Amino acid sequence: MDTYYVDIAAQSNGWHEVHKAGCPLMPPARQTKRLGVLSGAEDAVTCAKQYYSHAHACNFCNGLAAILAAKVQAAPEDPRLP
Ligand SMILES: [Zn+2]
Repeated sequence: MDTYYVDIAAQSNGWHEVHKAGCPLMPPARQTKRLGVLSGAEDAVTCAKQYYSHAHACNFCNGLAAILAAKVQAAPEDPRLP
């Protein structure tokens, strides 16, 4: 469970990004609306859409970071290989 926030100001493309607490790309607190403690990005986006119909999960904290973490776990370096 994590705390999620949505940008009050839309991006230049008209979308409002949903961030997980601690994301380095999250705008200052006064420019975000707290969505609450939710089970995941999907829930957070559903919640954000109550306020903004064009809401999507931030690629950094909800997408890229998770993909990178999965790759690190899936393909460990084996130091015994030549
Ligand atoms: Zn983010």
